[in-house]
Amino acid sequence: MVRAKTEETESMKKKETMMVHSPILTYFSVITLLSTCPPFVILLWFTMVHQDGSILNTFSYLKEHGAEGFVNIWPRPTAVAWKIIACYALFEAALQLWLPGKQVEGPISPNGNKPVYKANGVLAYVVTLVTYISLWWFGIFNPSVVYDHLGEIYSALIFGSLAFCVFLYIKGHVAPSSTDSGSSGNIIFDFYWGMELYPRIGKNFDIKVFTNCRFGMMSWAVLAVTYCIKQYETNGKVADSMLVNTVLMLVYVTKFFWWEAGYFNTMDVAHDRAGFYICWGCLVWVPSIYTSPGMYLVNHPVNLGPQLAISILIAGILCIYVNYDCDRQRQEFRRTNGKSLVWGKAPSKIVASYTTTKGETKTSLLLTSGWWGLSRHFHYVPEIMAAFFWTVPALFDNFLPYFYSVFLTILLFDRAKRDDDRCRSKYGKYWKTYCSKVPYRIVPGIY
Ligand code: NDP
Repeated sequence: MVRAKTEETESMKKKETMMVHSPILTYFSVITLLSTCPPFVILLWFTMVHQDGSILNTFSYLKEHGAEGFVNIWPRPTAVAWKIIACYALFEAALQLWLPGKQVEGPISPNGNKPVYKANGVLAYVVTLVTYISLWWFGIFNPSVVYDHLGEIYSALIFGSLAFCVFLYIKGHVAPSSTDSGSSGNIIFDFYWGMELYPRIGKNFDIKVFTNCRFGMMSWAVLAVTYCIKQYETNGKVADSMLVNTVLMLVYVTKFFWWEAGYFNTMDVAHDRAGFYICWGCLVWVPSIYTSPGMYLVNHPVNLGPQLAISILIAGILCIYVNYDCDRQRQEFRRTNGKSLVWGKAPSKIVASYTTTKGETKTSLLLTSGWWGLSRHFHYVPEIMAAFFWTVPALFDNFLPYFYSVFLTILLFDRAKRDDDRCRSKYGKYWKTYCSKVPYRIVPGIY
């Protein structure tokens, strides 16, 4: 009875959060994403690796060979692909479970729960990269094998991750790990947005930490290194464009793991439920699309020259630093209960109260100075610019390497709207006051 009541309230809340756009647009975009993302991953890989990164070449191929041609380019998942994925996933799961780390608490959930995590991300990241590079260095495993089987690996990931999302859907119905779970009453939304906020296997293995951080984000670094090694193995040297790309991506992922405990407070973990959107996205979209500028550079060793290469590198590192500092500023401010200095001064803030689904009244602090006084989501600006800087070493012969930057811009503009809508319904008049103090959503003075 209690569970039924919780699910009913949850269901209403979920419908509200899912319908931030009009219902027709929401249904249309969900169905479109479910059906187009998997084939897009294969088309992108095929274009990058077999069509010289040229969309026109792929288009001509498809025009000539039609649907059958598309089926023919879709690699079948092979035993090698499954083995690589299984070894990597088991290794990461073992590191997540067994490496030591401080216990950290996530933010209070809508149902008043406080999930606890083990913060061992940096250690897992270092162990992963050292192990991977050592396997290559000592001739035990050549990362080129991963690049040579990339299509099969993506294909296996697509199907394996879809099956995993079905598992999450069933688990959400029959064995949720906490009260932060519920059905929207619509099978497609439950599958797409997910049902559980903090699904776990046993008490300690957090599924979203695994899919988002230890599989998804970690694969970004592993593949960046793979592309670099593949270019070295093919040409006997690494072009400066590839070096800039790899270093910037590694700095970005290092920043991510350095700040992983902070990530547990973000929308991905604290608000988005475990379903196709976040889990399939991290298991398949991150390793394939996010790493795609490096995938392109393997066969396009552009020489930038030291001056240009160093300028791009510095600009990229600066953007990653600003993005990190925005996140750090917000989290320090919340952690110290508004007592941290922001740009050397006492912060300006709004004390916003809200009601949890259990009817309890709580308060949160909203920072309105520093980066957070420039616009409500200023941190997305350096995030997008960093992506541009690790792509621009590919220069402008083809558009496809820039797909990630374009996708990220659309994703973050949509995310800013979703977040604003969620915060408006959570904080009501306090959010209105925040919007009047900080009127721009992302780009100060423009949007
Ligand atoms: P945030 O970390 O910005 O989290 C948003 C939450 O912060 C809001 O829901 C609200 O939560 C709280 N909040 C909002 N305004 C304020 C304020 N003024 N003061 C204090 N708290 C506030 O969101 P993201 O998860 O989108 O971003 C986290 C990082 O991840 C960023 O660096 C972003 O660039 C990056 N990112 C990267 C993506 C990629 O694909 N490369 C995709 C998405 C994000 P509450 O309910 O607690 O008040």
